Amino acid sequence: MSEFTEWRDGVRGSKPHRCEFCYRTIPARAPHSVVSGRFDGAWFRQRYHGPCDRALAEARRADSLGYVDPHGWDDWERVKAFAAAGVLEEALAYFRPARDNDRAWQAIADQPTAPAAMRELAQERARAKVHRLKTWPAYFEAVVDGRKPFELRRDDRDFQVGDVLHLYEFDPEANRHTGRKHRAAVGYLIRGPQFGIEAGWVALGLAPVLEAIAPRGASDSA
Ligand SMILES: [Zn+2]
Repeated sequence: MSEFTEWRDGVRGSKPHRCEFCYRTIPARAPHSVVSGRFDGAWFRQRYHGPCDRALAEARRADSLGYVDPHGWDDWERVKAFAAAGVLEEALAYFRPARDNDRAWQAIADQPTAPAAMRELAQERARAKVHRLKTWPAYFEAVVDGRKPFELRRDDRDFQVGDVLHLYEFDPEANRHTGRKHRAAVGYLIRGPQFGIEAGWVALGLAPVLEAIAPRGASDSA
């Protein structure tokens, strides 16, 4: 029998499947792409998240031989493929949450085929600073469960919009860290003295962190 390949978009499975690009789960009933066919005498069927499918298609299009096998890729190569295909933000949702990784963002910012807006965002993220802050348990809990989407802090470390906060729960009675940590980005800020905020203090509006991808095996430096 001859070799052939068939692509189908918008397929919905009745059970979860694994994406062959990012190796994360495609939930049951989530639309995805299916590539099936026959190669070297064997039948195959592979499933991909939509954005992963587009990243792979772009990588194959850009490769001079038109053949790219992502199975040997590390996460860096996947990030670059997502950026090149312009699906980074959507695609990152399928990856494990990673760290604020300057190198990952810089790699995206340097992708010539990535959309300008994405490169600018990546450039901004690459410059963003990480601030490590102690947080008392009651406040930590309120931030984690979303009741407290802000921080009031001494304005002593040049906070900027886009910076990332690593909040470490700290128990003042036991005088020690509890081991819990939460990450948030600075989405907005107002510096005192204005609106009742004293000079030397700053109100920080918290926003979700757009996740970057760290290479496999990398560990948080905090
Ligand atoms: Zn995927």
